[in-house]
Amino acid sequence: MEAAGPAVRRLADWSAADLADLAEEYGTPLYVTDLDRVRENAERLRAAFDVGDTEVRYAVKAHTGRAVLETVREAGLGAECASAGEVVRALDAGYDAVQYTAVNPPAEDLDIVLDRWRDGATVTVVAGAHDTVARLRERGFDGQLAIRVNPGVGAGHHEKVTTGGHAKFGVPYDRAADLVADARADFDVVGIHAHAGSGISGDDLDAHRELVSRMGELARAVGPLEFVDVGGGFGVPYHEDESPLDLAAVAEATREALGPVDATLAVEPGRYLVADAGVLLTRVNTVKAVEDADASGAVPVVAGVDAGMTTLLRPAMYDAYHAIRNLTEERPERPVTVAGPVCETADLFCEERPMPAPRRGDLLAIGNAGAYGYEMASTYNSRPRPAEVVRDGDGTRLARERETLADLTALEVER
Ligand SMILES: *Cc1c(COP(=O)(O)O)cnc(C)c1O
Repeated sequence: MEAAGPAVRRLADWSAADLADLAEEYGTPLYVTDLDRVRENAERLRAAFDVGDTEVRYAVKAHTGRAVLETVREAGLGAECASAGEVVRALDAGYDAVQYTAVNPPAEDLDIVLDRWRDGATVTVVAGAHDTVARLRERGFDGQLAIRVNPGVGAGHHEKVTTGGHAKFGVPYDRAADLVADARADFDVVGIHAHAGSGISGDDLDAHRELVSRMGELARAVGPLEFVDVGGGFGVPYHEDESPLDLAAVAEATREALGPVDATLAVEPGRYLVADAGVLLTRVNTVKAVEDADASGAVPVVAGVDAGMTTLLRPAMYDAYHAIRNLTEERPERPVTVAGPVCETADLFCEERPMPAPRRGDLLAIGNAGAYGYEMASTYNSRPRPAEVVRDGDGTRLARERETLADLTALEVER
């Protein structure tokens, strides 16, 4: 059994010398993912939720890199997929059973997933609308189905990640029991499902409890099921002074809120498995003093770096906080704005945050970049996506090559 490791790995815990070597060898911007940490996170989840009694399914959209998928699969966790692409990647990484949560699924997604199912893969489809159930029926699907319920409660660190209460997700709570009964005629209805959004924290446990207790009630109303899936959203401490989630307390609150049900409890953490297993390395290329000194007399600087919102979108999209550490040298602090190379005002990793004044050529590490990091990278501004290396035991290897300018135009059709 793997050691479960500490409850959180902070940016300060990474070896500066090792990261500097990787930046030297592979260039920047560079994602570094530590598979040993992914294993530790999986192990802590298993221990807290007592796997066997609870199913833990990795929400693969947090990081679908092949090495991560294989690692999580080997750690014994299931796979929760949000698209046909994720289903195919999970199956290709060795999963023989996956859950596919279809949110307004394009026809092609349904076709691809059902092809895999006909070829023998075990696929549990989670439908969040009557229309989705009808479209599955039209396609001759009669396999395992779960109904996604809109529990009417949400939890999350930002409006954009609070999905539980939004009408986009799931069938209205009051209509769910009817849909389950109706679907039982044509499908093997194995479960009910809800996901409240991301960011279950100590403070947010009440919303989580509320969602779980509604799901417990619904489960008792609809009769025997294989599972009640209460979603993911297990928070990680992005701020250095935030304490880590008390997983045992979350597990206990979940069981207690669920109450007695004739079904297995399932959870779907994504971020929790990978966030603190990843850092993004980026090099400073421009340093500029801002005109006015602040009250303390320190002159703020803008440090331009080679990673941007196209590399790590979370700060621009969610106002997310990520720790930033200068790996080159310790220096006196001053207010620093770290800015990317993209022509957008939102392309900032932090604004006037006190940190050692960077110099041109310095190497910075951005922490907790393992979840929704590479995954949300884009090629906006014609910026090729970065490379990724994985650390595994004592070794490090390239997991994904850096995209090239040629890759950006490879699909263009000449007239
Ligand atoms: C995104 C998602 C998750 C995982 O959310 P995290 O915050 O990464 O834990 C789980 N279930 C569903 C349906 C999702 O869409």
